[in-house]
Amino acid sequence: MAAGDRQARPPRGSPLVRRDDGGPVWYEARGDGWRAAFSTRLGGVSAAPFDTLNLSLSTADDPALVWRNRLDFAAAAGVAAGDLVVPGQVHGTTIVEVSGADRGRGARRRTDVVAGTDGLLTRAAAVPLLMTFADCVPVLLVVGRPARALALVHAGWRGMLAGIVAEAGRAVGACGAATAAVIGPSIGPCCFAVSDDLGERFEAAFPGTWRDGHVDLWEAARRQLATGGFAAADIVSSGLCTCHQHEFFSHRRAHGATGRQAAIAWLTGGM
Ligand SMILES: [Zn+2]
Repeated sequence: MAAGDRQARPPRGSPLVRRDDGGPVWYEARGDGWRAAFSTRLGGVSAAPFDTLNLSLSTADDPALVWRNRLDFAAAAGVAAGDLVVPGQVHGTTIVEVSGADRGRGARRRTDVVAGTDGLLTRAAAVPLLMTFADCVPVLLVVGRPARALALVHAGWRGMLAGIVAEAGRAVGACGAATAAVIGPSIGPCCFAVSDDLGERFEAAFPGTWRDGHVDLWEAARRQLATGGFAAADIVSSGLCTCHQHEFFSHRRAHGATGRQAAIAWLTGGM
């Protein structure tokens, strides 16, 4: 990516607030008792093809550079990188609850991640959850006002089809009434061309999500959020497509060789 891309015009039309204070460039969402931050690929230290704000230790990037990026992104978002709770993502539907005792798991190294899960849930304040993405869909689910619990989900097409967002809705719904949800930057219906076989599977599970050879993962997420009691007015979709908006990493655009952006979400409690 050319240095000039840093000055590229931000994508239009997102309800999230774009933050660019000279370091990592990211998008902010917030509500009563919760906050979330979605990174771009801009403002980090990694070299190509991970340039520059790669936040995943599950790539061939230098782990020291990923840690530097995590430090900077977390600081910009307003949390300590050493407190981040990071899962070992497997494209499944399991949701795991974490608490204050889990702070720091997976933050610096992969050996102590919360293994085998694509959904983290917490009822504890100041436990920042981090997940990484490069086209897959970040979904945040919040219950209570002020927030009593939240769940952060990594939903690729497999997890979306298998119902991980609905599963997260059930898990977090046990802690309170649905109040807010965010669908973060990810591959949009504009770019997610699929095989007829996959399209038919989505159409069967979520009618209307397969059109002109493309699947709308954002709509599939909305359908699952609705089953969890999230009203349409409470769902914010970033509208940011990682595949054609080049300030993001995209697995599809890069044919696999790329970095990962991240979502961080946490309950503010008394913070
Ligand atoms: Zn697109």
